[in-house]
Amino acid sequence: MTAKAKEVARGVYQVGLRGVNVFLIDAGDGLVLVDAGLKGSPAHITEAIYSLGRLPQDVIAIVVTHTHRDHVGGLAEMKRRTGAEVWMHPADAALVRDGLYGRPFGPGRDRASRAITRAMNLLPASRGEPVAVAHEVSDGEVLPFDGLRAVHTPGHTAGHLALLLPREGGVLFVGDAASNMLRTGLSPLNEDVAGAWRSLRSLAALQFEVACFAHGRALRGKASEAFRELVRRFETAAAQTPGPGAA
Ligand SMILES: [Zn+2]
Ligand SMILES: [Zn+2]
Repeated sequence: MTAKAKEVARGVYQVGLRGVNVFLIDAGDGLVLVDAGLKGSPAHITEAIYSLGRLPQDVIAIVVTHTHRDHVGGLAEMKRRTGAEVWMHPADAALVRDGLYGRPFGPGRDRASRAITRAMNLLPASRGEPVAVAHEVSDGEVLPFDGLRAVHTPGHTAGHLALLLPREGGVLFVGDAASNMLRTGLSPLNEDVAGAWRSLRSLAALQFEVACFAHGRALRGKASEAFRELVRRFETAAAQTPGPGAA
């Protein structure tokens, strides 16, 4: 597999890996890597960095949206290759520091996601190499990388962060707060599905032109309107079927 860096906004590159995307942001002083992919991803991410005419040492920070193995599996190795420090929300930083790559998921909101959740929760706890996290990031914090702002979006995991880059009308790194596989929606797996909906609503209140998903294609142009439409659809459906699932 050759990892290509595809420019989705000015100086924002999506690197498609096996089932997951990571992103490189040209922040002027260097590159910021958003998420580190799976255990086998670092070679591909490094290749993508070279394809931009840059070196692994040009990565000045690794910002992690949350602790799941498709986002932190390659983290220890990318940290070694780049020498960059890791930035994360404390609730998920606590896991990765202990080499624990996820918590059990909560009950799903429909039959299909309940079945997936049950199956996933039967698997042994996901473990991997412990990684030091130098910088704990809280909600609303503006990181010293071109105004990149953290938005705490708990639900998929307790310490999930989305990131908003104030560039070209706003570029949102959604992480797994939503996915865009067949269509835009919540991830089928969440620690707390009601919290995930609340987080999606808070993202929909932001202004952004481009949405970059860890899973699925980027939305380019009026992306925040698509989020607002999604929330409207959900609220209409929830109003019609009271009971579990209504956040
Ligand atoms: Zn995840
Ligand atoms: Zn994921």
